[in-house]
Amino acid sequence: MARTALVTGGNRGIGQQVARVLAADGWDVLIGARDRQNGDAAAARLRNATGGRLKAVELDVTSDASVANVSQKLRDGAIRIDALVNNAGVYGAVRGGDGVARTIETNFFGPLRVTLGLLPLLRDGATITNVTSGLGALDHLDGAHRRLLADPALTRDDLVAHLREYVRSGGAGWGADAYGVSKAALNALTRVLANELAAREIHVNATCPGWVRTDMGGRGAPRSVEAGAASVLFGVTATATGGVFRDGRRIAP
Ligand code: NAP
Repeated sequence: MARTALVTGGNRGIGQQVARVLAADGWDVLIGARDRQNGDAAAARLRNATGGRLKAVELDVTSDASVANVSQKLRDGAIRIDALVNNAGVYGAVRGGDGVARTIETNFFGPLRVTLGLLPLLRDGATITNVTSGLGALDHLDGAHRRLLADPALTRDDLVAHLREYVRSGGAGWGADAYGVSKAALNALTRVLANELAAREIHVNATCPGWVRTDMGGRGAPRSVEAGAASVLFGVTATATGGVFRDGRRIAP
């Protein structure tokens, strides 16, 4: 039986390449896209390119209603998920308080919202891959927040409360910009979720694509989208859990 993957932000960039590789490998691929037309266009493009099975689902990771809607549609179609790739992300476009809120909502609360919303549809033994960044390394943060995120006793509720407070303050403190904070918090969330989901043998890892030539990374980035996606794809079949990886090697969170 074919395995099913859902890739958020799968309509362009690294997400699209992850979807392409999985479809070419025989997976059924759901391309999450917040814009329905962009999703359909990407699915058609990749079906042509790979001959694989791809469909778009309209999914805005910042919207509870959108996640609930996708969850209901998958349930109606009796679709179960073997691999969730939380790839959708934003970087820097909007500065100031609004930019902080949007960045944290998308890059941190997005993966959390999608994971919790789709959890009942994930098979035991599934994988969850959170796409992170080297800019989320703990050593970019001030000491207090480094200790906070590294604390093995950190709970999901504590983490969420700290991120809500960070947004409320307009991005004050922490020592890094909102993007760095979002990815550092995502790495910590990965560890927390890995512990929570261990009983179901759901493996949760964060994978960093490196600096990649996409709309986000820009033309001057050193890595191809293929190399970035390959680094992310490690998480899809990972047997480890709770780690942060680049190119299949553990990196410091
Ligand atoms: P990209 O080319 O800018 O693509 C971002 C994708 O995320 C697009 O599909 C975009 O959809 C989607 N997205 C943004 N907000 C969304 C939302 N609210 N709901 C659903 N989808 C949303 O970026 P990329 O370079 O491929 O980045 C992919 C991931 O890799 C991100 O998590 C990023 O932080 C991470 N990363 C990238 C680099 C790099 O150098 N490129 C380095 C480290 C980590 P639309 O088309 O609708 O905007």
